[in-house]
Amino acid sequence: MIQSLNPATGKLLRSFDPLTPDAINAKLAIAAHAAKTYPSESLDQRIFWMRRLAALLEADIDDLAALMTAEMGKTLTAARQEVAKCATACRYYAENAARILAPEHIATGNAQSYVRYDPVGVVLAVMPWNFPLWQVFRFAAPALMAGNVGLLKHASNVPQCALEIEALIRRAGFPRGTFQTLLIEARQVEGLLSDNRVAAVTVTGSEAAGRAIAAQAGWLIKKTVLELGGSDPFIVLPSANLDEAVPTAIKARCINNGQSCIAAKRFLVHEDIYDEFEKRFVAGMAALRVGDPTAESTEIGPLATPQIVDDLLAQVSRAKAAGGRVLTGGDRISTIEGGSLGNYFQPTVIAGVLRTAPICQEEIFGPVALLFRVGSVDEAIALANDTPFGLSASVWTTDTAEQNRLAADLQCGGVFFNAAVASDPRLPFGGIKRSGYGRELSTAGMREFLNAKTVVIGGPAIAAQPSLFDQPKAEGRSDKPSEFLQIADQLRRFEPRRPDSRQPESRQPEPRQPEPRRDEPRRDELPTRRDTFEPRKDTSEPRKDELPTRKDTSEPRKDELPTRKDTPEPRRANQLPPIIFGPTSDDDDDPPPARGSILGLR
Ligand code: NAP
Repeated sequence: MIQSLNPATGKLLRSFDPLTPDAINAKLAIAAHAAKTYPSESLDQRIFWMRRLAALLEADIDDLAALMTAEMGKTLTAARQEVAKCATACRYYAENAARILAPEHIATGNAQSYVRYDPVGVVLAVMPWNFPLWQVFRFAAPALMAGNVGLLKHASNVPQCALEIEALIRRAGFPRGTFQTLLIEARQVEGLLSDNRVAAVTVTGSEAAGRAIAAQAGWLIKKTVLELGGSDPFIVLPSANLDEAVPTAIKARCINNGQSCIAAKRFLVHEDIYDEFEKRFVAGMAALRVGDPTAESTEIGPLATPQIVDDLLAQVSRAKAAGGRVLTGGDRISTIEGGSLGNYFQPTVIAGVLRTAPICQEEIFGPVALLFRVGSVDEAIALANDTPFGLSASVWTTDTAEQNRLAADLQCGGVFFNAAVASDPRLPFGGIKRSGYGRELSTAGMREFLNAKTVVIGGPAIAAQPSLFDQPKAEGRSDKPSEFLQIADQLRRFEPRRPDSRQPESRQPEPRQPEPRRDEPRRDELPTRRDTFEPRKDTSEPRKDELPTRKDTSEPRKDELPTRKDTPEPRRANQLPPIIFGPTSDDDDDPPPARGSILGLR
């Protein structure tokens, strides 16, 4: 039985029977079919749907936030921010898919050699409850943009969020089977993963889940991305501005009621400022308002399950047994204003735990901070790295030499100076050691589930032309409009020429021998801003009143779906015809880009 329980009240909201083997099989068949047909949808079409998904998220922000709060207890304020972040990720991938998926030319002395990025097919996503929407969208947005198909096994305590995500994706217009939620239990993942129709798996969750799934995927030789637990250090050195560091430390520990993989969990403070930091940090933690997650004034809501409260209590007592002094908190809260049976826990700070104690090697998933005094940067680095995890770190210092040293020596997937750790669609996200492997978000995240296929066409080399594709930069080459326009122009040359219906047959451009490409497109050949960014904003973002409503079924009405007329002719971003056609004199006669068109390509 899969149950949705309100963690603020203990009340059962809904329950579901897990899917039967036959139902899973039927859904797999639909996914496999979608994996064959969906990649041939044009990139422009996919971008249109992705933009509509972003708009739908924003239109439904209050309902979606309320659902998350009801199912797992995060505050409504945090839940709204989470929905908005999902919309941002959808837009990031809508705007950057063309760049990330574009074939990359590499001069090898052959007629042509390039890398094309093809979708891998059906990707299974096993996801946790702590960010019920964001964890899924940071997988789904790049996967769907890339032409992959998603199957979601969400955590058993957020089934309504899981169903709502599928419904949103359908309402945005994505074809049937492109993304399906499977209400199944953890034990059913094994059978699903061993099915040949599933190509790859991404897991966000505990070490135990990651290990079990990765072991099986390894045996099956299926690609895996693992985003697992963390015990991130928050390092405060003498040059830190405590007026900023202390409030950020409190937020970094208590974000999402303390249940975040990238929450700061161990606070390593230099002895020169330790006493002042401890005083302010403990006072700030003790002053946090714990209570009803739907109240605007609440800073910490209930923990997601009673089990998490029990686990935290056990960890606090292990910390005390290892010499820890509880400076504030340390216990469950049994009554909250208005009375409650919720899973509430006091914000807690514990100092002086023996560094060799086993508790220092555990992830603490709730509002409990361990505080340590360190005498030097070397000691801070050694203690920070003394953990099986390697997700990220927040470091407070204005000293550039210290920043360079710590950026190099901290063993983790991301270091944030003078800021809390946060995921950002533009930046790779992930860990090392037992925090997992692979990356989500940014270019790196999208490429995890793409086949980087090498294509070589023998024959005399076409004069080598330095271009953006010849010199790929993994990150950061995209977001400058001028660079983006150049990429747009080059992509345009790789498109097969469509017959122009306005021209008599005889005037259609004939395939020509490859022409040497020029280094740079001429200014007048570049799509203008009007051709690219602005029309996409104006035309492909639907108005609020144009969006399908939540009352509608997950099947969008026919008249709501963008038609082929609305969008440009299919353009397969990752398909590169063997012959490059140079610009023709007909280009001037081209009609303006159609609705939903990106980059001025048709
Ligand atoms: P969890 O118990 O591992 O559950 C995560 C998902 O895995 C759920 O869908 C769960 O299904 C499933 N699962 C659990 N054991 C499984 C197994 N043996 N085989 C197949 N599936 C299995 O983790 P959680 O308690 O939900 O989430 C908290 C953990 O996630 C923390 O350790 C946190 O640090 C980590 N996390 C990491 C990141 C990151 O990006 N690195 C982000 C968020 C959370 P059921 O719900 O049905 O059991």
